[in-house]
Amino acid sequence: MIKITNLTKLYKNKSNKVQALKNVNLNIEKGEIFGIAGYSGAGKSTLIRCVNLIERPTSGSVTIDGIEVSNLTGKELRKTRQKIGMIFQHFNLLSSRTAYENIALPLEIAGVDKGEINKKVTELLKLVGLEDKAESYPSQLSGGQKQRVGIARALANDPKILLCDEATSALDPDTTKSILNLLQDINEKYNLTILIITHEIKVIKEICDSVAIMESGKVIESGKALDIFTKP
Ligand code: ADP
Ligand code: ADP
Repeated sequence: MIKITNLTKLYKNKSNKVQALKNVNLNIEKGEIFGIAGYSGAGKSTLIRCVNLIERPTSGSVTIDGIEVSNLTGKELRKTRQKIGMIFQHFNLLSSRTAYENIALPLEIAGVDKGEINKKVTELLKLVGLEDKAESYPSQLSGGQKQRVGIARALANDPKILLCDEATSALDPDTTKSILNLLQDINEKYNLTILIITHEIKVIKEICDSVAIMESGKVIESGKALDIFTKP
């Protein structure tokens, strides 16, 4: 589903150069939960931005669902972006919109008609267990509930891939568990491919099928979670 080949990213400022990614190779299969772990500065965000088509690689390629995406523009770029949903550490909800309206936003942008939006948002609220919070504003929701709204919003356009950027790092352990359980349910229900980046190794141990460990822009280890975490 996502194939990353010899991916390199060099940031050039006036005074210095940073090689954020060095020849990264990863193969993320359809329907798997893939975790990328590493300390701050390892290159995780840069990698996810290359997958999310926000950043263009210096060299190498990213293939999503069979399409080489690094040089897409215009309509093709928008079409591929619609295959990707994303959730964030700080949820990134609009504070002036209710839970319902936050989830509806990507559908409105895509030009979906009101009846369809209502059907879809109602279904998504149910999926994430927030039927009774449709009219609540983000300030009236707990962290876990906000992330549930974030997940529902990310799924609104029926993406094939869900990217999770430190999605549980702002949550307490119990809430983290419930969010990870929800991600696992969604993965099974829709055969959704999920890519998680985090500095918390326990998150990866909890739900990931495959793992890559990053350090200084390189993947220093990768494979099935069972193999990596049972090594002596
Ligand atoms: P992580 O997400 O693992 O913390 P990042 O991808 O954010 O790692 O950063 C990798 C390296 O690239 C770091 O040294 C960081 O300072 C640098 N970096 C990230 N974004 C930029 C940018 N826009 N301009 C210059 N350097 C950057
Ligand atoms: P219309 O334009 O025909 O009035 P709406 O989209 O305003 O249609 O409302 C249709 C249904 O969608 C409403 O009955 C309501 O249940 C639901 N709905 C619309 N907006 C919201 C919202 N912000 N929060 C919760 N439910 C909503």
